[in-house]
Amino acid sequence: MKVKAAVCYEPHAPLVVEELELDEPKEGEVLVRIASAGVCHSDYHVMKGEWNPPLPMVLGHEGAGVVEKVGPGVTLSQPGDHVILNFRPNCGWCKFCTGGRPVLCNGASTPRWFMFDGSVRLHKGSTDIHHFARVACFAEYAIVPQSGAVPVRKDMPLDKACLVGCSVMTGVGAAINTAKVTPGSSVLVIGCGGVGLNVIQGARLAGADRIIAVDMLENKLAFAREFGATDIIDASKGETVERVLDMTDGGVDFAFEAIGYSKTIEQAYTATGVGGTMTVVGMAPEDDNITISALDIPRTEKTIKGSWYGSARPWLDLPKMVDLYMDGKLQIDEMVSRYYPLDEINVAYDALANGEVARSILQMN
Ligand SMILES: [Zn+2]
Ligand SMILES: [Zn+2]
Repeated sequence: MKVKAAVCYEPHAPLVVEELELDEPKEGEVLVRIASAGVCHSDYHVMKGEWNPPLPMVLGHEGAGVVEKVGPGVTLSQPGDHVILNFRPNCGWCKFCTGGRPVLCNGASTPRWFMFDGSVRLHKGSTDIHHFARVACFAEYAIVPQSGAVPVRKDMPLDKACLVGCSVMTGVGAAINTAKVTPGSSVLVIGCGGVGLNVIQGARLAGADRIIAVDMLENKLAFAREFGATDIIDASKGETVERVLDMTDGGVDFAFEAIGYSKTIEQAYTATGVGGTMTVVGMAPEDDNITISALDIPRTEKTIKGSWYGSARPWLDLPKMVDLYMDGKLQIDEMVSRYYPLDEINVAYDALANGEVARSILQMN
């Protein structure tokens, strides 16, 4: 079938919105009509050449839609199901899957720019087009492995559901699943974009007492307050770490870095108190490295954790996030700054680059 999609042909160039050919779903795959897709920073790393997967590629990994058709052997969903796309489709049986950490399973031995069998379903004439994170939802339709399409209740609005698929799960999950923020604790969140705001509301849900939000932009700090931050620090004024240490009598119990930048990861570590936990949520460029004091690690017993996709068990947690939203316990509407049609995806990325928005959503109509 013919589908309109946004293709990344080379870094530092606008995405090309054009018509591609999409194959039929093969064994274990589903065809999803995309309703909405979030404009997330991870795709932008590819557009800026900071991550270098094979190109050309259809980007997009934060999506929701409706199952249109299923391939042979599909048992987990059926046509008509509303689904949130899971960008870590997994195998179900390896040590990570059976051990409760499915996000660490790659699904198959093939790179995650291909379907599990190592081939692609997207083509432009004779050119194969790769699938970003086995999702590729900057398109009207996508083919994904069945474990990558998680059915959710149909009263969940599809224009908001996409955000559960990355930023909500990543942020809330980092607080609840990865760091396991405790009631009454102090929390620091550096970076108040789509993911950082969700770390803040995850910490709020977990019962944190003090939540300190750090960003350089005034509009993002205002969002942070709305999502549950009790204190805000404008990092453009400098001395962020010193101010956190002063405010918390020596450092927070839980620090989160939600930007993906070595300098702010080092700041988050330093602002963590003795015995505390620092969790890296932000996704840095491939060549960025951190430096921290080696001696400090044993002497402070600080824990450094990585959190990918909020340490999600997507088939358990994505429906749970939807329930929390439907019960009014998670703010998602407030995250949505703008809607754009797919044709305006490059405008949407300019707005992200300028820090104008909490989150923009592409609607495929
Ligand atoms: Zn994302
Ligand atoms: Zn597995």
